[in-house]
Amino acid sequence: MMDMGKSKIVATLGPACRGVETLSDMIEAGMDMARINASYADAEVISAEVEAVREASRRAGREVGIILDLMGPKLRVGEVAGGEATLATGSRLRLRVGSFAGDAGSVSVDLPEFPSLVGTGDTVLLDDGAIVLRVEEIGASEVVCRVVSGGVLRSRKGLNLPGKTLPLPSLTDKDLADLRVGVRAGVDWVALSFVRSGEDLEALRGVLRENGWQLPVIAKVEKREAVQDLDAVVKAADAVMVARGDLGVEMPLEEIPLLQKRIIAAAARQGKPVITATQMLQSMMESPAPTRAEVTDVANAVLDGSDAVMLSGETAVGGFPVAAVETMRRIARRAETALNYAAWLDERRRWIGKGTVEAICMAACELALQTEASAIVTPTESGFTARQVSRFRPRQPILAPTPDLAVARSLNLYWGVHPRLVGVHGGVEATFRAAEEVAREAGLFERGQTLVITAGLKAPGQKGIPTTNTIHCVTAP
Ligand code: PGA
Ligand code: MN
Repeated sequence: MMDMGKSKIVATLGPACRGVETLSDMIEAGMDMARINASYADAEVISAEVEAVREASRRAGREVGIILDLMGPKLRVGEVAGGEATLATGSRLRLRVGSFAGDAGSVSVDLPEFPSLVGTGDTVLLDDGAIVLRVEEIGASEVVCRVVSGGVLRSRKGLNLPGKTLPLPSLTDKDLADLRVGVRAGVDWVALSFVRSGEDLEALRGVLRENGWQLPVIAKVEKREAVQDLDAVVKAADAVMVARGDLGVEMPLEEIPLLQKRIIAAAARQGKPVITATQMLQSMMESPAPTRAEVTDVANAVLDGSDAVMLSGETAVGGFPVAAVETMRRIARRAETALNYAAWLDERRRWIGKGTVEAICMAACELALQTEASAIVTPTESGFTARQVSRFRPRQPILAPTPDLAVARSLNLYWGVHPRLVGVHGGVEATFRAAEEVAREAGLFERGQTLVITAGLKAPGQKGIPTTNTIHCVTAP
């Protein structure tokens, strides 16, 4: 039986899962989307990762999507000689403008304005707050800090100045270069880190438009400014991420659980998918089993209404990448048995506008509920119908036959949607037959089982691509 789960699993790529073998095991264990974190990848790595995921998909017999996660306007320290340095609590650390291999005494920061951004007594956080520094002296090209709380600092770890507005562009030169490489390699989604406003996303969309690149955009909500302007950020994006790592540095930690619920709700209201991310199974970096608190966190993210849950270091650099995916899938599947579909549908019915497309997709879900259908099938060229149906969180799996490989890959992020690559579909009859066929293959169209099929079908002689306009209900003889 195929896995017809609801919530999706995003797994971050890295040295721990570089081999095609491991990647295909991860796909079989339940990975739906692979994330390439451009903060740790150069052009060569991005291309190689895309290649490896495609090969692993072929081996596993299931096409997964790829997210290119751009670094965005984030401050980071530069390289550290040997990859890491131990910063002792109580020692002094120089943060020097430039790009050189650092050590326990001084590390580089590649932003000339850096010294002018801080005042003595300010807190500087490294590695998502794992290392805490206090500013003691400020020079023309360096900031001398006291290590208040030490730890191991690795190359290119993040540097946060909580509450400070940074004079950085929405997209850095590195982001633009990475984007070009990613598009060439064929990624399916692009995520932007440290989004501050809807305008940051517009800047990215502008670049995509100018180049004729069609990629959906994920806004990573991890800054106070984005939280303050949440609805505009959600509106400007195709999907959002609750990026708890940096969010917990930029905001007090105790705000995270409520912010998570707020961001998920804001995305749901606008019908945009939402990924809950970071430290979900953190202890599986070193251990084959998660903590009880982590298990509960993954389940709660699903119950909150996340479309997807994400693994970061667990799969990128952890010791048990395949087990982490498998564990996350098991937790998600169990939590999904407790989802309150009726309440969700009721709530979402009140959110939709007057458009016929929304009404038809909503009605398809109602019909599926009423007829106890085995699946909702959304034949789609652009993915539009499947995305719309996903918003209403139906109990039935949403099968999305599409002739477009890129659409099939990108649909993997959407709650409940199971894309299927099919030959070109033409007329009404052929479309319905193809819909029945994918359901039959999934074991969801056996004798007596009912399907609800919804699609945008062309009337005879109609020009252009029709929007969702049809619901068809069929029971297997
Ligand atoms: P990152 O984003 O892993 O790229 O930092 C996610 C987060 O901050 O939680
Ligand atoms: Mn982040």
